[in-house]
Amino acid sequence: MTLIEHSDSPRTIRLHARDNVAVVVNDQGVPAGTELVDDLLTLDFVPQSHKVTLVDIPQGGEVIRYGQTIGYALQPIARGRWVNEDQLRMPTAPPLDSLPLSTDVPAAPAPLEGFTFEGYRNADGTVGTRNILGITTTVQCVTGVLNHAVKRIRDELLPNYPNVDDVVALTHSYGCGVAINATDAYIPIRTVRNLARNPNLGGEALVISLGCEKLQAGQVMHDNDPSVDLSEPWLYRLQEASHGFTEMVEQIMALAETRLQKLDLRRRETVPASELILGMQCGGSDAFSGITANPALGYASDLLLRAGATVMFSEVTEVRDAIYLLTSRAETEEVAQALVREMDWYDRYLAKGEADRSANTTPGNKKGGLSNIVEKSLGSIVKSGSSAINGVLGPGERFTQKGLIFCATPASDFVCGTLQLAAGMNLHVFTTGRGTPYGLAMAPVVKVSTRTELAQRWPDLIDIDAGRIATGRASIEELGWELFHYYLDVASGKKHTWAEQHKLHNDLTLFNPAPIT
Ligand code: CA
Repeated sequence: MTLIEHSDSPRTIRLHARDNVAVVVNDQGVPAGTELVDDLLTLDFVPQSHKVTLVDIPQGGEVIRYGQTIGYALQPIARGRWVNEDQLRMPTAPPLDSLPLSTDVPAAPAPLEGFTFEGYRNADGTVGTRNILGITTTVQCVTGVLNHAVKRIRDELLPNYPNVDDVVALTHSYGCGVAINATDAYIPIRTVRNLARNPNLGGEALVISLGCEKLQAGQVMHDNDPSVDLSEPWLYRLQEASHGFTEMVEQIMALAETRLQKLDLRRRETVPASELILGMQCGGSDAFSGITANPALGYASDLLLRAGATVMFSEVTEVRDAIYLLTSRAETEEVAQALVREMDWYDRYLAKGEADRSANTTPGNKKGGLSNIVEKSLGSIVKSGSSAINGVLGPGERFTQKGLIFCATPASDFVCGTLQLAAGMNLHVFTTGRGTPYGLAMAPVVKVSTRTELAQRWPDLIDIDAGRIATGRASIEELGWELFHYYLDVASGKKHTWAEQHKLHNDLTLFNPAPIT
């Protein structure tokens, strides 16, 4: 990366030697007539994080960023012009039948020894970064009663159990009014099931059921699962109540108290950094995402992998256009083929709705300088760092191995977060350019801004400012290490992210590609 500074300080960033556009760094953009590098004069006002052409691009010519073609010029674009989505034809998605499979696997880097955090060791071998009582549900019908009970548990019981961080209701829209045996119903079902097994719930989740719904409690907390202790009461069905609402709430509170007693006995212990299961995603991306925050995440991800941890990245529509850069990095051909399988499944899922991956980009992305999904994808996959990809999980699947894992999820923030929780993440990191107060109840969320301006406007929402990379105040390496240490401190409970401090969290949102009846 070359950072181009100028005396009167208009600044642009060009990431790759092949790039014929650069991104404007200045908070207020640069006016027409601004002199940039190599006597380049801007012909238009170019807003912050938007692209300016470095050469004359003929009609049909490639516009190149990250060293890759992000579009073709619909009209000639003169050197110095502002390039936006209206001037570009988007390339077609890379065909899935001719991808390089496991052709360029990065060598395993030197292990990073000696890093630890303080976590809660679980019976199934996983480690929690928080000690949370989870109360899951088989159906939306119970939500009102459960939320009422959880409020009372927080107010009346939790203060008596100082070692328990929180009580969380795992409410969702599934369970009844759904085609429970439809081909794709396994996705929401296994998601609900695996959410209750998240390491931060300590293997002690309870189930509240109505009683007559299609999704039965046994499917959520399976009797044959050795990771779940069913020797003590774990289920309450509201339809068993013979005295209405008050009895329901009291029964839930009594059940919760049995688990609070157990959870309260737990203590943090020193565990290796390899027990971290980090889920990464981005939301409200801009053209800085791929320059500042995501490369820093990628660097930290490589460090975590060297320390033996599990790192997940996701968001199928945001890797689809750059998939050739991932299949080549897959540890084995089998892993590469699993990546292709998930892309193909999602292509067909979108086609069923007569959409394609171009539906991903939002008005905010475009305002932030991202012309299309190709440009967004190239900036998004940078999160995955430079390590070999070791495994692939389908939506709602739980992790089974350490290493760098592609967890196939929609890019929608809450859906991706929910599926990464089901996959078993015990810590989440989220990069944002446009800004979002996003949070999750079941895992700490570290929010990283792509721009300093956002971090300054939202100092009590953004945990780490990666905009420092754009202005030369920190290098990608420095910020990568800062993130690595911050992850371990948050995992240990020594630091609490802003989302945690404010108790900001989005609803669990299931991915249900199956029909509703
Ligand atoms: Ca997202």
